[in-house]
Order: sequence, then structure tokens, then C-alpha cells
Amino acid sequence: MARYYVLLGPPGAGKGTQAKIVTDALKLSHISSGDIFRENLSKQTELGKLAQSYMNRGELVPDDLTISMIRDRLQKPDCINGAFLDGFPRTPAQAEALDKMLKENGNEVLAVPLITVPVDVILERMTGRLSCKDGGHVYHIKYNPPKVVGVCDIDGSELYQREDDKKETVQKRIEVYDRQTTPLIEYYQKQGKLVEVDGSQAITDVTACLLKALSGK
Ligand code: ADP
Ligand code: ADP
Repeated sequence: MARYYVLLGPPGAGKGTQAKIVTDALKLSHISSGDIFRENLSKQTELGKLAQSYMNRGELVPDDLTISMIRDRLQKPDCINGAFLDGFPRTPAQAEALDKMLKENGNEVLAVPLITVPVDVILERMTGRLSCKDGGHVYHIKYNPPKVVGVCDIDGSELYQREDDKKETVQKRIEVYDRQTTPLIEYYQKQGKLVEVDGSQAITDVTACLLKALSGK
């Protein structure tokens, strides 16, 4: 059976950072819905144009667009052995759609780590986040600075502050998470799949907890 995991947590919790490390370690595909939307946005595809206004306002892109984007992504050959989903699902409708999609091929989500962090930490992490233009690599001004100011260590591309990481939008995104995404905690708890991980620790310690939580699942 293929291995599918869903990483849950508020914006800024460290999902993208951890997903990159853990998928390298477990040799799984990393699917970040936010990265796919941003890629479409920078290429100004139809999907990117449709998603742009929602993203810049800190709102969720409508379920139908998001679900069909993920369905296409999961059908790519690199997902044959499974995937680590980061940022999807974010609503109960998306979670139900994912369960259905996987079931069609005799698969299911095996475990759902939830990265928890207090709200003051979230705010500091999001407003200090620097993202790389080409590869979606993520840094933090204070906690994970690049070796050279403004340049990605990994692919040399330019670092920038995401439009939606500006203070005004960050608060809105936390509200959207509380209202639309937190019901998924109960959804996966009921399925016996939720595992909480303390995200306020240092990056390497969070990784160790995540790998432990996933081992044998
Ligand atoms: P998410 O994908 O959940 O929105 P990111 O992985 O992009 O979160 O992390 C948000 C910001 O916090 C980034 O600037 C990242 O470098 C930083 N960060 C991630 N994990 C930690 C950690 N454990 N300690 C300190 N800073 C972190
Ligand atoms: P974060 O790193 O803060 O968790 P993401 O990069 O995952 O944020 O998402 C950025 C934006 O992309 C979201 O605010 C939303 O507009 C859109 N988006 C990403 N994933 C989804 C999803 N599963 N459903 C709807 N919108 C999404």
C-alpha cells in the first residue's frame, strides 16, 4: 500500500520547513498546495489568476479549484508510492474528497501529524519568513537566516517576503485557520490518525518528533 500523510497546523507552524526535511528522509513526494498555487500565480496560468485574489486577501481558494488541482497532482507518477501533503486538506470538504480519491485506489491517509504552536510564535514566524522565488525554500530572518542576505542557500534564487505574510493579512489567515481548518482536528481524531507534535521546539527537534510519530505508520 502507498503511504499518504497529511501535515496539519496553523499558518507559520513550520509545515513547509518540516515537510521538506521529512520527505527527503522518507523518500516521499512533498505536495504543498500553497507552493503549487504560488507557482501558478507567478506563471499567471488560469488557475493562478483565479487563486490570486483569495491568496492575497488571506482567504482560502474555493474547494472545487483546490480539490481538482490536488487530484491532478496525485495522479503524477512520483506519487505512485504515496505523498506527504502539506497545506491540503484545509476544509472538511477537502478532507472528504481526499479520502474518496485515495479509496478509489485502495489507499488511505495513514497518519496526520498536527504541529501545534502558540499564537505569538506564529505571528513572529510568519512576519519574519523569507521565501525563495524558484524552489519554495523557506528561511527566517532570525531563526533560520540564509548564509548570504537575500539569496537562497540551495538554489541561489532571490528571497522575498510573501504578499500574504504582511502583518495585515497574517491575522486574517489565523482566523481563517481557526474557522475553516480546525474542524479537521476532530475529523482525523475520530479516525484515530491524529498525532500532536510540539512545534515550538527548534527545527531539528520538531523533525525528530515527527519522524518518531510516523515510524511504523
Ligand atoms: P508553514 O508552512 O506552516 O506556514 P514554514 O515552514 O514556512 O510554516 O515556517 C514559517 C516560518 O517559521 C519560516 O520563516 C521558517 O523558517 C520558520 N520556522 C519553521 N520552523 C521553525 C522552528 N521550529 N523554530 C523557529 N522558526 C521556525
Ligand atoms: P501557510 O504556509 O501559511 O500555511 P500556504 O502556503 O499553505 O500557507 O497557503 C497560502 C495560501 O494559498 C492560503 O492562504 C490560501 O489562499 C491558498 N491555499 C493553500 N492551500 C489551500 C487549500 N488547501 N485550500 C484553499 N486554499 C489554499
